[in-house]
Amino acid sequence: MLLSRRVSELKASSTVAVMNRAKDLARQGVDVLSFAAGEPDFDTPERIKRAAIDALLAGQTKYMPTLGDPDTRAAIADKATRENHIPGVTPEHVGVSSGGKHALYVIYQCLFDVARPGEPQAEMVLQTPSWVSYAPLAELAGAKVVEVPTTAASSFKMSPEQLKAAISPRTRVVMLNSPSNPCGTMYSEPELRALGGVIAEAARTTAPDITVVSDEIYEKIVYGGVPHFSIGSMPEIAERVITVNGLSKAYAMTGWRVGYTITSGAAGLKFMKAMGTLQGQMTTNITSFVYPAIGIALRECASEVETMRRAFAGRAELIYSLVQKIPGLTAARPTGAFYLFPDVSAHFGRTGPDGRAIRSAQDFCESLLAVQRMACVPGEDFGGCGQNHIRLSFACSEGQIEQGMARLGEFVRALR
Ligand code: PMP
Ligand code: GLU
Repeated sequence: MLLSRRVSELKASSTVAVMNRAKDLARQGVDVLSFAAGEPDFDTPERIKRAAIDALLAGQTKYMPTLGDPDTRAAIADKATRENHIPGVTPEHVGVSSGGKHALYVIYQCLFDVARPGEPQAEMVLQTPSWVSYAPLAELAGAKVVEVPTTAASSFKMSPEQLKAAISPRTRVVMLNSPSNPCGTMYSEPELRALGGVIAEAARTTAPDITVVSDEIYEKIVYGGVPHFSIGSMPEIAERVITVNGLSKAYAMTGWRVGYTITSGAAGLKFMKAMGTLQGQMTTNITSFVYPAIGIALRECASEVETMRRAFAGRAELIYSLVQKIPGLTAARPTGAFYLFPDVSAHFGRTGPDGRAIRSAQDFCESLLAVQRMACVPGEDFGGCGQNHIRLSFACSEGQIEQGMARLGEFVRALR
């Protein structure tokens, strides 16, 4: 069978690969400690489950409107207005997708073209390290990714000057993700306002077709004293901002596959019509009896979210303090999401207890899994300086964090 080049050349998701590998080992009875999955260990709050069960039993089992039923879209529009202060959002400005990942796929397909011969390629500005799926999905849609490298010294944040230098007349998208996967850091409101100022200026001058795609899926998981800020709330660029979010992380609903997109104003309506057309050809709607659960989550589950947020805050402090004691590992203090992203490159050139030469983060993770049965994601596929880092997801118990960091310390001390 001849496979398409488009898919044959597509890079597989390394986060999904390591997560599945760790889950497979656990199923086989291997005592593996997984720090791989970007997935809360909590169960979905009871009342969210109840809403879906009730809808299922009441017979909400038929096709539904593609972008969501009116009540669900109203609940999301209300949340965007109330919590995120995004102006000009009506129910018609929002759409529901099968996870944030599907939303991003559809957004990129709506914004990028595959360049025709002689045509310049549309560009997406992407700071690195960044989540493994942004670049492959944007490239699949025809974009050329323009990387803006960041480092731990700046808490993995780009400066307005860096952003300005990366924007060209071909820029269609500036991709933002705060709090960040994999870095665990986030932008403050003044920092985002400064980036927004650069975008507003570029829209008036060099880059008339510039759009911001702001992935805010970790907005509720913040604990570093920096409040979350939505760049779509800036009136001067609101119509150019597409905000992506979902229920996976804040409500412990990874398996439900619920993501949503928020837009604003006349441009937002135009965009949402395109999104509806594409999703109407792809998925029709998400699982119909899940729709009522979305409204319940957004309207009624603040206390459950707060309980989980506090747990993540405690875990962040714990893992950060334990990793600091491990020789040669350095990490930025996490302020949001549930990832620690330590630099392990001080150990490159050494040999693992299993005899493996540690030349990269990938080697480090392979040897760690073989010797200590501890799974984490090597940083290479996050881009930029990610190649010197490993990602530790601390969406797991404090007991597991203590045990895991003891294993990691033992592993590092046994390197030769
Ligand atoms: N964005 C980021 C930054 C993520 O870490 C994830 C995690 N999978 C997603 C989007 C997509 O999540 P989901 O498809 O489960 O909504
Ligand atoms: N986003 C999570 C992660 O980064 C889940 C896997 C994925 O979708 O990439 O681990």
